[in-house]
Amino acid sequence: MRPRYPDAVDVAIVGSGPSGSAYARILSELAPDATIAMFEAGPTVSSPPGAHVKNIADPAARAHAQRRSEGPGAGAETVDSPGEVKSGERRARPGTFLLPEGDAVAGGDGMPVAAMSTNVGGMSAHWTGACPRPGGSERIAFLDDLDELLSEAERLLGVTTDAFDGSPFGDLVRERLGAVVDGARSEGDRVARMPLAVHRRDDGALVWSGSDVVLGDATRENSRFALYDESLVTRVLQRGGRAAGVRVTDRVTGETSDVAARFVVVAADALRTPQLLWASGVRPDALGRCLNDQTQVVFAVRIRGASGADRADGDAPAAGLSATSGVTWVPFTDDEPFHGQIMQLDASPIPVAEDDPIAPGSVVGLGLFCAKDLSRDDRVEFADDRADDAGLPAPRIRYGLTPRDRAVIERAREQIVRWGRAIGEPLDDSPFVLPLGSSLHYQGTTRMGPSDDGESVCGPDSEVWGVPGVFVAGNGVIPTATACNPTLTSVALAVRGAREIADRLGRGAPRST
Ligand code: FAD
Repeated sequence: MRPRYPDAVDVAIVGSGPSGSAYARILSELAPDATIAMFEAGPTVSSPPGAHVKNIADPAARAHAQRRSEGPGAGAETVDSPGEVKSGERRARPGTFLLPEGDAVAGGDGMPVAAMSTNVGGMSAHWTGACPRPGGSERIAFLDDLDELLSEAERLLGVTTDAFDGSPFGDLVRERLGAVVDGARSEGDRVARMPLAVHRRDDGALVWSGSDVVLGDATRENSRFALYDESLVTRVLQRGGRAAGVRVTDRVTGETSDVAARFVVVAADALRTPQLLWASGVRPDALGRCLNDQTQVVFAVRIRGASGADRADGDAPAAGLSATSGVTWVPFTDDEPFHGQIMQLDASPIPVAEDDPIAPGSVVGLGLFCAKDLSRDDRVEFADDRADDAGLPAPRIRYGLTPRDRAVIERAREQIVRWGRAIGEPLDDSPFVLPLGSSLHYQGTTRMGPSDDGESVCGPDSEVWGVPGVFVAGNGVIPTATACNPTLTSVALAVRGAREIADRLGRGAPRST
């Protein structure tokens, strides 16, 4: 028997990724009397629901969970790392699937590898977990409480900086990079350990945070919270111009129901949140616009000559070490508008000679994410006369790099070689720019603004302008052009919205019927 949906709840949340889960968690903590229903279009693929698939020890079971997250793209060949994307083929990362028309509009660069995940936990069941704070112009100037919100987001995501302290060569990478990067930078902008949503168990195994960590026991033990998987929301219902509930299709039985709600939170990723608003007749001018992704430049080097670097039997990686054995952060600055994610790998991204085995951690993949020049013309738009696989208005992307974007990418290419050479011996002839969409960090499509001036979709609490009770969540809400990984920031913004809903519930917001 499938669970039947309730007739009415206080809060309906669409999407079970980290931003929707942050609403569930904060509401469970601050408004324990509130009834909350979370609807997720995809299946539950891990335990507890929303857990990162990398925590699944059996490779076959992990691959199965990834395939089940790939929605209509399931079964397609995927590429496992940014390094492999260099093949130039249009392929998705495991656990994700490509937007079919990502590069369809003639005359623009498009976003050939724009991708999504459809599963409980969303992309956070598959992510790398890098959680740097935004800096300089990445920050949202009109939010005075941003730092406190970011601290709360770090709590929800279980962010640490010491999980890879035993990693071979981690300190060496930071020392060598610091020598060429830190000179002109202020203290907070210097080379550092990457904050990561990961911790080590007592037995040394890594545990990656997914939505399960964001939900936490506070949500799982909340008897007024329920998660409904394989439940596609096709419409946000409104009455009298305010939130009234959601229309949801049970993807197992095919039945459609209306669930009344006093508040609706749409946390369905940066491409599908605007899609659901569009399908619901909520179409502010800024919807889908200012779409921005972070163009990614990659380069790889190998450490030689340092103690252990030339021996395959050198310091063994710590227990449970997977593809990344240590992650170093070069923060974004306004002078250098890219963000560096420097990952030590336990295998080379390119073939090496058989008699020249790689010592764990001695191959270093450098990735620079570039901040985009924001433009209203970069957008995801939706067709009223064509449906996607889910039966919702088909999305299509218009996207192009500006001359300023190309200049930033060129600078990133120069710096990545300089930084790479400081760390080790280059494995690549030259840096590689990944196909647009590779970063999986799409932002801006439901952007937040300080006032309803046509340039934003929602206000500082993430409530959609002119539609009381409808909130949006996820990377699409971020209004600035960030280069840093955005999830920490979008969870921080979700905390603010959830507190506002909790506050209004406490003050007796209108009841759903
Ligand atoms: P999502 O996690 O995408 O969840 C949205 C959910 O909504 C999905 O499960 C979807 O099925 C559901 N949904 C959509 N439409 C509907 C509907 N109509 N009805 C019901 N449900 C719906 N970010 C970082 O910050 N740092 C990183 O290091 C990082 N690395 C990454 C590596 C990989 C391989 C991947 C795939 C992603 C990575 N990301 C990273 C991106 C990160 O995972 C996302 O930023 C984050 O998951 C976004 O959270 P979200 O809750 O907004 O959306």
